Amino acid sequence: MFKKLKLKTKIIFSIFVSAVILSILTAAGVYFYLGNTLVNEKLKETDKLITEQVHESRQILDKNEVFVKTIATQEYVKEYLQNPDEKKRLAVLKIFSDYASTDPKYLSLYLLNTKGIALLSTDPSFVGQDYSFRVYYTEGMAGRPSVDLLLGKMTNRFGYFFSHPVFDEKGKVLGIFVVKITGDEINSAIVESEIGRINTVMLVDKYGVVIASNRPERFLKSLGTLTIEEKRELQVSKKFLNTEIVPLQYGEVQKALRTGTSTLIMRVVDVEDNDTEIIHVDKIEDSPFYLVTEIRLGIVNNTVLHILAILLGFMLFGIVLSTAINYWLLSTALSPLKRFKEFAEGISSGDFSKTIDLKTDDELMDVAKTLNGMSKNLKDLYENLGARVEEQTQEIRKKAKDLNDQKVAILNILEDVEKEKRQSEALANDLEKFKQAVENASDQIVIADAEGTVVYGNKILEKITGYTPEEAIGKKAGTLWKKPMPPEYYAHLWNTIKVQKKTFIGEIENKRKNGEIYTAVISISPIFNKQGDIVYFVALERDITKEKEIDKAKTEFVSLASHQLRTPLSAINWYTEMLLSGDAGKITKEQKKFLEEVYRGNQRMVDLVNALLNVSRLDLGTFIIEPTSTDVAGLIQSVLGELRFEIKKRKLSVSTSFGTLPNPFLADQKLFRMVIQNLLSNAVKYTSTKGTVTIVVDTHSKGDALGERFLDEDSLVVSVTDSGIGIPVGEQDKIFSKLFRATNARESETEGTGLGLYMVKSIIDESGGKVWFISEEKKGSTFYVALSVDGMKKKEGSKKLD
Ligand code: ADP
Repeated sequence: MFKKLKLKTKIIFSIFVSAVILSILTAAGVYFYLGNTLVNEKLKETDKLITEQVHESRQILDKNEVFVKTIATQEYVKEYLQNPDEKKRLAVLKIFSDYASTDPKYLSLYLLNTKGIALLSTDPSFVGQDYSFRVYYTEGMAGRPSVDLLLGKMTNRFGYFFSHPVFDEKGKVLGIFVVKITGDEINSAIVESEIGRINTVMLVDKYGVVIASNRPERFLKSLGTLTIEEKRELQVSKKFLNTEIVPLQYGEVQKALRTGTSTLIMRVVDVEDNDTEIIHVDKIEDSPFYLVTEIRLGIVNNTVLHILAILLGFMLFGIVLSTAINYWLLSTALSPLKRFKEFAEGISSGDFSKTIDLKTDDELMDVAKTLNGMSKNLKDLYENLGARVEEQTQEIRKKAKDLNDQKVAILNILEDVEKEKRQSEALANDLEKFKQAVENASDQIVIADAEGTVVYGNKILEKITGYTPEEAIGKKAGTLWKKPMPPEYYAHLWNTIKVQKKTFIGEIENKRKNGEIYTAVISISPIFNKQGDIVYFVALERDITKEKEIDKAKTEFVSLASHQLRTPLSAINWYTEMLLSGDAGKITKEQKKFLEEVYRGNQRMVDLVNALLNVSRLDLGTFIIEPTSTDVAGLIQSVLGELRFEIKKRKLSVSTSFGTLPNPFLADQKLFRMVIQNLLSNAVKYTSTKGTVTIVVDTHSKGDALGERFLDEDSLVVSVTDSGIGIPVGEQDKIFSKLFRATNARESETEGTGLGLYMVKSIIDESGGKVWFISEEKKGSTFYVALSVDGMKKKEGSKKLD
């Protein structure tokens, strides 16, 4: 609710509430401070008055005591008591009566004998009465003066009885002089006392019974309840005869009195007056009386409340006044707010023309200035808003278009990505297939990186080498199972795959994990990246140990068989020759014809067996190469000589050309002859009638091109060109294979074994040379043999070729 109030009302309300709180706090402070101070002041003042009052009471008692003592010590009193005769009695009575007449307070003056009997009295009714029950009698007999308030036995009136014993010269008690005086003197001293004006004052005896008070109703009432003992004592002394003593509310004070305290101050709650009071108890010295003052604090409280009421009145007036002044001041100070409101309303409804014109020269004026500036800026802003909105809209449209274009582009990309994904999945599938195929291939497949470190090996690797793919991965390819081979082998291998970047195919001997040597065919191919750099090598390896062993066994068998066949064939040859020469008698023409047939057939057989034997020796590698200085030209001419019948028969034109030849040229005579023999006989054999055979022998440098090849060293090259049947393209790669004969060769019905070129290749390979050819079917062929200018390579062995 407070929130909804106006600002002015809020401030005024706040000031008002603060002032009220402050006033309440001040009033409370004043109340407590003033209350305490006034109470203390009052107590101090009362204390003084009480002391005065006690003193005054004492003086009254003193006066009377002195009077009793004076009379009791008079000679005539003593004398009378010692010798009580009528004359003396009258004289004493006369004096007593004179005293009594001087002051009406003296109610009676009388003398008791030692038995307590009143011998004489100004009040005749006393005479002859027994007062031995009185305290003044017992006290007097004990030699002590006394004072007490008593109810008269005869008069039934209260009075103060002052007594004093009469002594003889020896100090013996002769009798007791008693004066009964009215209570007026003491009572009025109490009632009219200064202290009694505002407080209740009481004179109480040792029993706590009120014997005088400015509140008459308290007379003969005890402060608290009397004990049984006290009641009995009172009954015996007949002090108040049979008057019933009613207790007041001051039991506590009564109890304190019994302890014999002379002064006592205590705070009590007066149930009767319903007020808090301070009770002041003061003993009047040398008397059985106490002055009890009842100081009512209610009066003090009333005074304080009175002051407080006045104070609060002033404060209330102050609050009302200050609220009114504040209200006026605030109304004046906040009046410009109305203009601020109008201004703000104007702005919110789009009216920027309004300004706040203030001359207050305070913070509000500063705010007004700022707001005026703001309004002006807003006006400018508003005016330019349309143009800016249009500009922004254009920009947003452009951005939206761009975004749309981007969206289309992204969609296209996503489509491409989807396509790529599908392709990748297909590729992954293909790859998986390839992987499976490679993994389970029967040949060993090892992949190495460009540095030759194995990165993959398929299952068969373990079977062949004994090493698991895990063992091989991370190692240099082949190092685990390297035998090793001669260094040239590896040099050639690396040259082929790394420098020439071609596939290397070759036989290799390796060592299994268990130390066993095995033979394998290896094919190592480099794999390139897009830039043409080698990234991997793929090595395929097939264990051909078994085949090799079988081959060897076969070759050995062929060797053995050929060897065994040679003896009978030689015998046949020899005997046929003998028969033909007529050594065994004359033969008929027909017999001769048959024998010649046998001889030729046998001759062919011998050639074949020799060839087979040579081939088996080549295969077994048991042959020797013994290079010696060779006359190449002479050797060629010699072979041509051997072939002259065939050349003549076919009417071939043979030409030879010899360039500068190395001198000496080191070659194994037999083997080199075998090579030339085979090449020349083939050229003759596969060239039809009137054809040409050209033999060129020359020295060439490394890098020279010959027959579509480059020489890799300085060489002596023998080329044999013919215009014969040529070799069909599809069969050219098998020409150096053992027992291979081309189809056209077989059809031409020329004889042949298919072993010649195989031997040529074996010999040249073993000699460190090269043999190759170029050929075109039906046009002719050229066979090339290149041997290092240094000659054939020497080879140790056990057998020579025939
Ligand atoms: P062959 O005993 O059959 O001549 P070779 O080993 O000498 O055996 O030759 C193998 C095959 O090579 C021949 O059968 C023939 O097909 C072919 N050949 C060899 N030399 C020639 C050549 N000069 N012209 C045509 N074909 C040839």
